[in-house]
Amino acid sequence: MDLFDSNAAERANLPRNMIENSMFEEEPDVVDLAKDSSTFPAFPTLDPDEVAYEPRSSRLLVRGLGENDMDDDEEDCESSARLLGMSFMNRSSSNRSNSSPYARQSSPRSCSRPSTRTMVACLLVLVLVASLIMVMYLLPGCTFTKAGCPKPNKTAPFEPVYPNSTSGEPFPWAELRLPRSIRPLGYDLTLTPDLDNMTFTGRTVIEMSVLHSTKRIVLHAANINIIKATFKLGDGKADDVHVLEYKPHQQIAIKMKEELKAGQQCVLTFDYSANLSHTYDGFYNSSYTDKDGNKRVLAATQFEPLSARKAFPCFDEPSFKATFLIKINRKPNYMTLSNMPQAKTTTLSNSLMQDEFEKTNVNMSTYLVAFIVANFTRVNSTDPGTMVSVYSVPEKKEQTRFALDTASKLLTFYNKFFEIEYPLKKLDLVAIPDFLAGAMENWGLITFRETTLLLGNNSSSLEKQVVASVIAHELAHQWFGNLVTMSWWNDLWLNEGFATYMEFMSLQEILPSLDTGNLFLSVRFRAMDKDALNSSHPVSTEVNTPEQVEEMFDSVSYEKGASILLMLNASLPKEFKKGIIQYLKTFRGLNTETEDLWNSLTQVSTTRQNISEMMNSWTSQKGFPLVNVSRKGDQVTLSQEPFLLTSDNTTKKSRLWTIPITYVNDSCSLAPECSQMFTLKSKSENLKVPESVKWLKLNYKSTGFYVVDYGNDGWNALIEALSTNISVLTPEDRASLIHNIFALSRLGRVPFEQVLHLLNSMSNETETSPVREALLQLNSVHGLLDKRQESGLVARMKTYILTHFGSLMNNQSWGEEQSLSKQELRSALVSTACTLNEESCVANATSLFKQYSDSNFTITIPGDLQQAVFTVAAQSDDGWKSLLNLYTTTTYDAEKRKMLKGLASTQDPRRIAWILKAGLNGDIIQTQELPLIINTVCNGFAGYLFAWDFIQVNWDRLIDKFPLGSFAIQSIIKSTTSQFSTQAHLDQVQAFFSSLKQRGSQMRSVREALETIRLNKRWMESNLQAFGKWL
Ligand SMILES: [Zn+2]
Repeated sequence: MDLFDSNAAERANLPRNMIENSMFEEEPDVVDLAKDSSTFPAFPTLDPDEVAYEPRSSRLLVRGLGENDMDDDEEDCESSARLLGMSFMNRSSSNRSNSSPYARQSSPRSCSRPSTRTMVACLLVLVLVASLIMVMYLLPGCTFTKAGCPKPNKTAPFEPVYPNSTSGEPFPWAELRLPRSIRPLGYDLTLTPDLDNMTFTGRTVIEMSVLHSTKRIVLHAANINIIKATFKLGDGKADDVHVLEYKPHQQIAIKMKEELKAGQQCVLTFDYSANLSHTYDGFYNSSYTDKDGNKRVLAATQFEPLSARKAFPCFDEPSFKATFLIKINRKPNYMTLSNMPQAKTTTLSNSLMQDEFEKTNVNMSTYLVAFIVANFTRVNSTDPGTMVSVYSVPEKKEQTRFALDTASKLLTFYNKFFEIEYPLKKLDLVAIPDFLAGAMENWGLITFRETTLLLGNNSSSLEKQVVASVIAHELAHQWFGNLVTMSWWNDLWLNEGFATYMEFMSLQEILPSLDTGNLFLSVRFRAMDKDALNSSHPVSTEVNTPEQVEEMFDSVSYEKGASILLMLNASLPKEFKKGIIQYLKTFRGLNTETEDLWNSLTQVSTTRQNISEMMNSWTSQKGFPLVNVSRKGDQVTLSQEPFLLTSDNTTKKSRLWTIPITYVNDSCSLAPECSQMFTLKSKSENLKVPESVKWLKLNYKSTGFYVVDYGNDGWNALIEALSTNISVLTPEDRASLIHNIFALSRLGRVPFEQVLHLLNSMSNETETSPVREALLQLNSVHGLLDKRQESGLVARMKTYILTHFGSLMNNQSWGEEQSLSKQELRSALVSTACTLNEESCVANATSLFKQYSDSNFTITIPGDLQQAVFTVAAQSDDGWKSLLNLYTTTTYDAEKRKMLKGLASTQDPRRIAWILKAGLNGDIIQTQELPLIINTVCNGFAGYLFAWDFIQVNWDRLIDKFPLGSFAIQSIIKSTTSQFSTQAHLDQVQAFFSSLKQRGSQMRSVREALETIRLNKRWMESNLQAFGKWL
């Protein structure tokens, strides 16, 4: 999935809550059993019924209802396992799966400093225990579970506690994760959507195989009304069965009279009805107004992560892969699409048509299933072997050409790069008029927002960059995610980090003119900003509840994931590509965990370097290192510590990373050959450089995920070198110095004075990435001062920015600009100048809008200037009205979005109130745009308190539209709170979110918001004087 607004500088971020991550630091993974299995890693042969899956990267036993939900036998087994301790569990590993909840019980306490007597006693106990173990272990089938263990003496029977189902009967399962005893093999779905009444009926036939003897079948279903269910064992006859439902876990269950035996096959059939969803997930309805002003409706799906269960009963976890045969009944005036090509169409007796799609030729996770009922038109091209099509509403057919060309090029590129052909016969890319995410990688049927797929004839290269990036991301998922899928959402980064990395990598290869390098650099800086918070989380982290799963879709999974892959590629370029091909080939069609990737890379490493060891330090602990450099003559000492803006008891413990450090110096600093490598594994190590070296710059081109502090002398040497000649470093290195020094200033390591010294030394800077980084940082300080109503300092900051960048701003032309990098630079400069009300900028923008309006909106405003022009226009009464009029009539969505941002930037309080409401109501402005509106309103002075008030008043409606923890909610919380820096606002935010309880108080984004406000407060309070003195 692409988060869209998360792209570039606006990426949504945010964190959440959970079992603290520091616990991952203490203990290495236990021996892993299933990971080398190339058969079916998700369903190891001895996996017990009662045991819910537990990700390997977690070490706690997490159960739905704590220990109470264990059967007596299980309890007994657990005691055994405790007694045996880890070493035994490792020894028995050939029979144990990675899903055993006992894998990470800590070792039993041993007899420390024993007397002889206690030693003898201990020895006796040990012998006794060992004998017991041998007996139990050698008993056939004993896996220390209910199914496998011998019956214990029931002196104190332990009653399992099961929750009550909707009907009041006990529901036979208490975990959030499904039992592993049944595996779905294939689904046969027939759906009949009624777009007049916004309902649908369905029939789902699930063919299953029994892996372990069991008396229950538990699967997912949510918001559907099951009318009838039947069960058939083997070739027997289908009997009606009673379906129990436990709504809090979105599960249904069937209790069997007879125990199902391992190896048996069975079939469950459900007939059901439901409403089409009015939100953006499940099988949902969407509408648009066509060119004749008629409202047209359609229905589409968005299942990732947990919403397939809202369209059909299913085993809705990524490791339950199966085949799908899909049939959709529709009225003759609609068309349908699904993952596979259409096989046939038949006319039904009720005047409906039935479209049947080919059965999938691959096993697929439920979250990748998709279907659409609409009136779309298509353009297509046949790539060797694969039909590529782009679908849109008919009036936007002309806007699909760029997407079609780009998708075809990317498909050819990925086929070759991964050395595995795209496995399906067709690939559809569909622009959906109402779509919350940027895009969704459903196998063979990728869905997009209109803005991320469609482009007008006059679109700018910046708009092309957005579309190409999203297509590149989604196509990469067809391999990373669809072909090889993470076993559970804790490793979402295996999907998203890779797709994000591949999106930049592939476009640099096939569309270098789109210059995605600058974008990727700023993405890495923003990922570090977020990961510097204590509320961040490890890339690979434990998740259980739906809210936690939703929260994984954040910048850590996407952008930090991509950043550490870039770092790995930069330090091991030969192994990297080979390793990922090996990984894809080994695990195609299967599910994986992070360790599987590192193992594949280690296997191809010619130097036999232990890549697991190095990379685990980046995926299993949150945050990133701060590398301190100190130098005495030819001796350079490099030391590392966690870069943490907030430290508390959980973070004080020392954490180490294996850091592939690169460095250049004054004798050679620009070409890639200049970069030397040093691996810092311990807390501190020494490095020798020639005494004549004047300065060192670490992290060449900022490909490593760490911040560097050069110490006073080191910074001064760099500042001096840059004052003489800015070109001694690459633009990426200059941008990274700016990013790092601001980060160090927030950390309190470097005084703000030094930040300004560095910026002053770069007064001749004209390159895009350093200028953009400097503007972003300065604008953020300006924003904080503005919201604190420090008007004197705000004015001085404005003067500083305009003095520093004024000549560069004035040098910008207002005509068409070809180079994308120059467009990016101009866009950043002009937006800043106009936002600060710089006279000539406002005059130019006003005159350009007037020309536009006088031409009856026929002349073209250069794409990179449109935002600034619309924003300036929206500040006047007439401008706002004509922009709103234009917004409601325009069909080109990229432009429309910029108009909307312009409208939301108004400083008129009544209009702010109106636009927030309109975004929530969804009539004139689609609700999918609400996070963008809120973000824009919050950037202005007039609206940020309104927006804060608005989300408090409308919280329940917001979480009805956007699921708790989702990236939309993350973005809304961040936008409304991240510019507060006073105790009063901190108290307000804390009070509001804690009052929400189940409705959001536990979200990671809430913790991040509170931490950010505290940090803002600290930074502002300790620097207000310095700002006064130095600005
Ligand atoms: Zn994605």
